[in-house]
Amino acid sequence: MGDSTALAGGRQGHERLAELIPLVLQGLAAGTAERAAPGPAGGPAPVAASVAALEPLVPARGVGAEKALSELTALLAAGSVDPADPWCAAHLHCPPLAVGVAADVAAGALNPSMDSWDQAPVASELERAFLAAIARQCYPGASEPDAVVTTGGTESNLLALLLAREHQRQPVCGRNAHHSVARAAWVLGLRTPLLVECDGERMIPASLDAVLRETGPAVVVATAGTTNAGEIDPLRELARICRRHGARLHVDAAYGGLALCSETLRPLLDGIDQADTIALDMHKFGWQSVAAGLFAVREAADLKALTVRAEYLNADDDTEAGLPDLLGRSIRTSRRPDAFRMAVTMRALGIDGVGELVERCCATAREVADAVRRHPALELWGEPTLSTVLFRPRFGDVARVRRALLETGTAIVGRATMAPGEVWLKLTLLHPHASAADYLGLLDAVAARAQAPEGAVAS
Ligand SMILES: *Cc1c(COP(=O)(O)O)cnc(C)c1O
Repeated sequence: MGDSTALAGGRQGHERLAELIPLVLQGLAAGTAERAAPGPAGGPAPVAASVAALEPLVPARGVGAEKALSELTALLAAGSVDPADPWCAAHLHCPPLAVGVAADVAAGALNPSMDSWDQAPVASELERAFLAAIARQCYPGASEPDAVVTTGGTESNLLALLLAREHQRQPVCGRNAHHSVARAAWVLGLRTPLLVECDGERMIPASLDAVLRETGPAVVVATAGTTNAGEIDPLRELARICRRHGARLHVDAAYGGLALCSETLRPLLDGIDQADTIALDMHKFGWQSVAAGLFAVREAADLKALTVRAEYLNADDDTEAGLPDLLGRSIRTSRRPDAFRMAVTMRALGIDGVGELVERCCATAREVADAVRRHPALELWGEPTLSTVLFRPRFGDVARVRRALLETGTAIVGRATMAPGEVWLKLTLLHPHASAADYLGLLDAVAARAQAPEGAVAS
């Protein structure tokens, strides 16, 4: 048995990794083969039993690296829902690209921590250059845009409200806004966001205008890619209203932001560069493992609010001597080099390559929507804007259909309540290699399940 205490880095680290990584890959293959469907069958009980069988999970005497890795990797693969299966389509839960996952091995082995230059010399420089490219992509016309890495839309939205708090702003958002916006206001001790009415899933400009007329200095959160339906607020018009009222504008483009990589889809985000700040997630479109969030600002100076001094990490004399000050690039201290795998991926595919994958998902969504429209037993909520398709069986208990598919592991389908008591099924299509044909069987399975008597086992 090999040495379980061997290190991943140093001159020999790669040799031990070369022994262990094949075990991880074998475990992935074995566990995935064990699970015939995108998810484990039987719901929570058998999954819990598979973990309970390992008790004590954390033994007094270790089982060794080989056994622990093989066993737990196979268990993980067998009991996971796998977004690389097209029928795993409930959430903004993407199948990560192999190139990004492979890059993360290097990041994990070297473990640069992004809170000071002396822990991450080249990783921090790569991050800086990568973020500069992202900032230019978001703000092509701005003279000094900037961006930072976050854990996702939740942290990006928190940063947006935090920067706005520097100017005593009342949060305002659409009824379509992500729940993290209200939570960020709560965390920051700001007042509860004022809500703007929506038409369907898009903020109504006149309603925003009316709200801003009544309130003092505000920060408005618009959404580009709503969680329920993937809809995009009329950004340019909202930006114009914000400017008229002197309000700050944050665009939560956690879902839709990477459409900026596509010449064809970019017009959907028209006006986004008028925002003061933008949230984008590369763990949605961007095909990174969680967490891969980005937060862009039109004016780099806005990020000065995050400045903090900790003598051991960014002493004044070190900074004056030319060591980059990284501490003010996040509200975290120790921080993973998540920008590394994002940079490797964007360099491998190019902006156009990423844009093409986004286009494919959106095209597939439109085709799946057409198939729903043609299906005699199904009904479509509306034409998809991005890659979300909302539909439901014409008859039957929609929520029960979703649970039945989940319990058999057949398909992982989402849900969205679009009006009080009105539950729809949701496909959030992020599989870049799936085509509409891959979903036709799923539509039939939903229809069949809706017609099956309660308690019958779905096929
Ligand atoms: C996913 C998402 C969030 C939350 O982001 P996390 O990455 O899960 O923290 C916020 N807003 C929108 C619109 C999203 O799609």
